[in-house]
Amino acid sequence: MTSPRKVHIKSFGCQMNVYDSFRMADTLAPEGFAETGTAEDADLVILNTCHIREKATEKVYSELGYLRLLKEQAAADGRRVTVAVAGCVAQAEGKEIMRRAKVVDLVVGPQSYHRLPGLIARAEGGERVVDTEFPPEDKFDILRAPSREATRRRGVSAFVTVQEGCDKFCTFCVVPYTRGVEVSRPVEKIFAEVARLAEAGVREVTLIGQNVNAYHGEGADGRDWTLGKLLHRIAEVPGIARLRYTTSHPGDMDQSLIDAHRDLPALMPVLHLPVQSGSDRILAAMNRRHTRAHYLAVIAQARRARPDIAFTSDFIVGFPGEDEDDFRATLSLVDEVGYSSAYTFKFSARPGTPAAEMDDQLPEDVKSERLQRLQRAIDRQYAAFRAQCVGRTFDVLFERTGRYPGQLAGRSPYLLPVQVMAPASMIGAIAPVRITEISANSLFGVLAGHDARTHAPVLAQAGA
Ligand code: SAM
Ligand code: SF4
Repeated sequence: MTSPRKVHIKSFGCQMNVYDSFRMADTLAPEGFAETGTAEDADLVILNTCHIREKATEKVYSELGYLRLLKEQAAADGRRVTVAVAGCVAQAEGKEIMRRAKVVDLVVGPQSYHRLPGLIARAEGGERVVDTEFPPEDKFDILRAPSREATRRRGVSAFVTVQEGCDKFCTFCVVPYTRGVEVSRPVEKIFAEVARLAEAGVREVTLIGQNVNAYHGEGADGRDWTLGKLLHRIAEVPGIARLRYTTSHPGDMDQSLIDAHRDLPALMPVLHLPVQSGSDRILAAMNRRHTRAHYLAVIAQARRARPDIAFTSDFIVGFPGEDEDDFRATLSLVDEVGYSSAYTFKFSARPGTPAAEMDDQLPEDVKSERLQRLQRAIDRQYAAFRAQCVGRTFDVLFERTGRYPGQLAGRSPYLLPVQVMAPASMIGAIAPVRITEISANSLFGVLAGHDARTHAPVLAQAGA
C-alpha cells in the first residue's frame, strides 16, 4: 500500500479562510492527501491568503520565498513539492503571483476550491495553472464534508459559512472584488451541516460571513430567511449549546436578529459590530451607509434585548481626510459604547479601491500616533472588562487540555479564554466556573462547588 501524500494548508486572515482551509482539506482527503502541520514534510503546500491590508499581502510573498528554498531542497532529495496560492491574494493578483513567484504551481480563487483535485492534478503534470473564475456551480454542493474523525480533531467549536461576498462597497475594502457579490446558502443545507457537526461532538457553532447579517438564504418554505430566523432553526439542532455569528454590518441589524438575542439562550451575549469611525463625515467618505447615531441606536436596542451583552468592533484610523476632530469623535464613540475588546487598524490603501485614489492621504506618523491613542483607550476597556469578571461565575465550554497537567482550557460566553483544573473527560462539557484570577492572556477559575485552593469538591455540611 502506498503511504498517503501530505498536504499542509496555512491560513492567513479571517475565520472564513480557516473554514475554507478545512473544506479544502476535506475535499483533498478522498484524493489520498493526509493533513500535516508543517510545510517541511508536505507534498502539497497551500497558502490560503488574505488581501485586506498591505501587510497581509506582503506576508504571502515572504512565505513564498521560504517555500522556494524548501522546494529546491526537496528536489535535491528527489521529492516533488507542489505549491498553491489560494484565498483573496490569489483572486486579486493571480497573474502577478505567477510572474513574481516562479515557485508557485497553482493559483486558485475562493470560488474554485471545489475544483482543487483536478487543478492539482494539472499542476502536478507540470502545468502552471491559474483559476480565479466565479463559476456558476455552487461550490458548497461539491466541496466534501469533514469526516467524523476530522471534526473530532478540530474540536468542539466550529465555524460554518452561511454567506459569502459583499455588496456594500465600503470605499476602503477589497472584499467585494475578491469574494464577489453577496450569496447566501440555503437554510436546510446549513442545518444539515450543523447537524453533522453536532453528531461528531461539536457543541458551539459560529455562523460566519463577510457580511453575515445580510444573510437572506432560502428556507424550506421557499422564502428568504433572515439571520435571526436561521439562528432559531440552528438552535433546534440537538447537541448545539452555543451559537455565535460574525461579522455584521450595522445597517443590517434587523429586528429579528435583535429579538434572537432576547429569545435564544444559546445565542452568546457578544455582538461584534464594526463601526470603523465615530465621525459622520468619515463614515460618509467610507460609504459605510450608516451614521454614528444609527450605530448607537443599534447598540442601545441590543442592550435592551440582552442587558448583559458585550460589544466588540473594528476601527480604521487615518482614513484619507480624517482630521483631529474626526479622530476625537472616534475616541468619544469608544467611551460612549464601552467595548469588551476591539480590533484597530491603520488605513491601508488597497489597489483598485476608491479610497486608495482619494486626495488627503495621511502621513504614516499621523496614522501611527492615532492608532496608539485609540489602542490605549481600547486596552483600558479590555482590562476593565476582564477585571470585573473576577468573583463572577460563568458557564465555560471546555475545549482542550490546558497549559499545565490537570488543567483544561475553555471559553466564557464572552469568548475569554479560561483555565480550570478539571478532568479531561469534561472536554465538550459546559459547566459553571467561578473566576478567581486574571493574567495577561487568560482568566483562571475553579469549578463551581469546588475549593479555590485545592480544587476538590466542597461537600455540603451535614444539617447545613
Ligand atoms: N464586513 C465587515 C464590516 O462590515 O465591517 C468587515 C470585514 S473586513 C474582513 C475586517 C476589517 O478589516 C474591517 O472591519 C476593517 O476594519 C478592516 N479593513 C478592511 N479594509 C481595510 C483597509 N483598507 N485598511 C485598514 N483596515 C481595513
Ligand atoms: Fe468590506 Fe465589510 Fe464594507 Fe463589505 S461591509 S465592503 S466586507 S468592510
